[in-house]
Amino acid sequence: MIVQKYGGTSVGTVDRIREVAARIKRTRDAGHSVIAVVSAMSGETDRLLTLGRGLSEKPVERELDALVASGEQVSASLLAIALGELGVSARSMLGYQARIVTDAAHTKARIQSIDGELLRRLAQDQVLVIAGFQGSDGDGNITTLGRGGSDTSAVAIAAATKADVCEIYTDVDGVYTTDPNTVPSARKIDRITYEEMLELASLGAKVLQIRSVGLAMKYGIPIHVRSSFSDTEGTIVTREEALLESVVVAGVAADKKAVKITMRHLRDEPGVVAKVFGALAEANVVVDMIIQNVSVEGHTDLTFTVSEEDERHAVEIARKVGEEIGVKEVLANADVVKVSIVGVGMRNHAGIAAKMFRLLADEGINIEAISTSEIKTSCLIHAKYTELALRVLHDGFGLANAPGEGA
Ligand code: ADP
Ligand code: ASP
Ligand code: MG
Repeated sequence: MIVQKYGGTSVGTVDRIREVAARIKRTRDAGHSVIAVVSAMSGETDRLLTLGRGLSEKPVERELDALVASGEQVSASLLAIALGELGVSARSMLGYQARIVTDAAHTKARIQSIDGELLRRLAQDQVLVIAGFQGSDGDGNITTLGRGGSDTSAVAIAAATKADVCEIYTDVDGVYTTDPNTVPSARKIDRITYEEMLELASLGAKVLQIRSVGLAMKYGIPIHVRSSFSDTEGTIVTREEALLESVVVAGVAADKKAVKITMRHLRDEPGVVAKVFGALAEANVVVDMIIQNVSVEGHTDLTFTVSEEDERHAVEIARKVGEEIGVKEVLANADVVKVSIVGVGMRNHAGIAAKMFRLLADEGINIEAISTSEIKTSCLIHAKYTELALRVLHDGFGLANAPGEGA
């Protein structure tokens, strides 16, 4: 049993859909059961969102979900038609027909259950083409899983049907050391751990939706990221033990959605920071990096980053709470980007962060905030340096050459 997910570019035209159908037929002819999971044709989700936002600045989220889910309905049925033309018995299924049940958090719903038995049984004598990105909540409302959510649909279906592998077909050959469309010297990685992929995805490498990686790790589903334009082997995302030797730095990523918010001149006393972040947490605003300066005469500055979708909300909250704690000014700056290096080998190598700071400094790039975890270091810098920073970090850690060795 193989689950194959085809992204927007892979089903972007009728010709591309025909090629996808041919690939599925080859897999089927080789003796495998196939469940295909499709994204909307490329550009379609954005087009639909623009239509909705043309009518309302803040469309009702339930209706936004009903609107954008239609993109996947089109590609799923077209692919089933194309398979039929090749003599392959196929049926398209929407999220609710595949019994993909989610919670009711419209536009960012989480999958609660899938009827894997049913899908496995149906897939025995026909190809199932399931619309990605969507499900329905307990009341039958259509929900979607967040941008890039078809990856998560595919991995969840692979887990529920106990598939052997989940293949993610996209417009690049696999997972690269950094975005190959930004840094030409980027190199394809043959194997990467779930942990590293999780960090890369959360730090801006959109090749896999982060939640799909988390699910694959939880259920031990190997992911094979590969191109729908060729037959070359892609990247296997797998457990750490399965890798021969871990590299120090596996990849570099940039998150352009970061916004820096600074609260100036707040009282430096117990409970102040708890008040600020408590209010943000209550409003479901996810805070990423945090820095608090040394205090001068009982006052300090507090800086933190949020994602651009949360900017307005976060600023409102900071202003409101700020009034109670002496804040003079709340500033928001979206002209920043978070660049990160990731690698499980960082666990037992010293000096990696220092080397990162040096590489940025040598290019005159100022670091505005830093955060680290066991296997990553991130720096917030001015957005105008994004490409330069990616390139110097990528090449500086030896990712452009000597495959497999890293830093
Ligand atoms: P799909 O429509 O198939 O889901 P996406 O556009 O969501 O495809 O993801 C593929 C894109 O991810 C690539 O075209 C590439 O520009 C981008 N990308 C960012 N970082 C990486 C990386 N480290 N490796 C590969 N691709 C990356
Ligand atoms: N079509 C959706 C999007 O563009 C889901 C996906 O492609 O994975 O975000
Ligand atoms: Mg995607």
